[in-house]
Amino acid sequence: MIDVQKIKQDFPILHQEVNGHPLVYFDNAATTQKPQSVIDALNQYYTGYNSNVHRGAHALADKATREFEATRETIQKFLNAEHLEEIIFTRGTTEGINLVAATFGKAFINEGDEIIISSLEHHSNIVPWQMLCEQKGAILKVIPVNDNGEIIFEEYLNLLSDKTKLVSVVHASNALGTINPVKDIIREAHKIGAKVLLDGAQSSAHLHIDVQDLDCDFFVFSAHKVFGPTGIGALYGKKDLLNAMPPYQGGGEMIKEVTFEKTTYNELPYKFEAGTPNIADTVAFRHALEYVNELGKDFISARENELLTYATEQLNAIDKVRIIGTAAKKVSVISFVIEGIHPYDIGMMLDARGIAIRTGHHCTQPLMNRFGLEGTARASFAVYNSLEEVDKLVEGIKRIIKMFG
Ligand code: PLP
Repeated sequence: MIDVQKIKQDFPILHQEVNGHPLVYFDNAATTQKPQSVIDALNQYYTGYNSNVHRGAHALADKATREFEATRETIQKFLNAEHLEEIIFTRGTTEGINLVAATFGKAFINEGDEIIISSLEHHSNIVPWQMLCEQKGAILKVIPVNDNGEIIFEEYLNLLSDKTKLVSVVHASNALGTINPVKDIIREAHKIGAKVLLDGAQSSAHLHIDVQDLDCDFFVFSAHKVFGPTGIGALYGKKDLLNAMPPYQGGGEMIKEVTFEKTTYNELPYKFEAGTPNIADTVAFRHALEYVNELGKDFISARENELLTYATEQLNAIDKVRIIGTAAKKVSVISFVIEGIHPYDIGMMLDARGIAIRTGHHCTQPLMNRFGLEGTARASFAVYNSLEEVDKLVEGIKRIIKMFG
């Protein structure tokens, strides 16, 4: 039995008062808090062995390189990737998608080709493809969602054709929580020879990820959504595909040999990692994933489902509250609106009671438009949250409704 109070002890930031109330942190889909082990890893790097990686002939550089590369191995296991060199460090999900758009796009997307995304996408899985389509004269197609916030699978099948070169979809929606049927999406895309990218920004913290079982071609995620630091993330890509793609940025590390006449590029994964990387945060990323591994994804998802189910029941019982996104399979995200009250006011009033939620369009404006909304209020739960905290949220919402009459 894992003690939730014990888990909360691992996160120093959670033990403070905000506006005179104990902090209730329900903004985990935006970013998660960091356990002490992650904070210690950052400190230890800068106080003990700060050094550039890969090239040094001294002890500090050697230690920094080993710690840095150990994170790659941990990510390989975390995603169950077949090869270590299939793991590329990026600044996060956004950069991972942009990398694929720039390089896969350059090599494999041509005029008249089609790229499929879904209505659930975060702007970072929309805009890079729009930019690519503009450059190449390619066409962006969008899978619609039903009123529950689930993609309409038949519509997806109708969009697939021999023109489809890439399907890029979110694994779990940050705005509504919907978990997409990604295995089915991938299987159908592969039938017509299209590649599939999964945006794992939200799923990586909550669900078991096995890229070999999913058979996705690319998977991207950010450390900061999985209890790790900001500014670091990873791209998984199938080895043959990554080898066939041109480099992303040019500079140090990504080369084998440079002359003024011709440059040859380094092998994977370094071909895609130009310049001095974000070493400290990469090292700390490993400690975040180890933290998740210690708790276990089964425990984490069971705990979060309990919070989600309880919060959903409680919010459904309040007149005037409408939950947006009622998919059968969800991660622990609840988006809601209250009749007659602007989401921003809900956020401000909850904040006055120490409860941190997010309001607005959640970087999913087209999805909000689909539901005829400007935005929602969103509570998103992590393993360190408790049912008592959900009670505080519910009580806070009831007060707001009462105040607005
Ligand atoms: N995709 C989804 C589903 C997200 O939730 C986010 C962040 O909120 C992103 C992409 C972008 O992630 P990042 O800002 O870490 O690059």
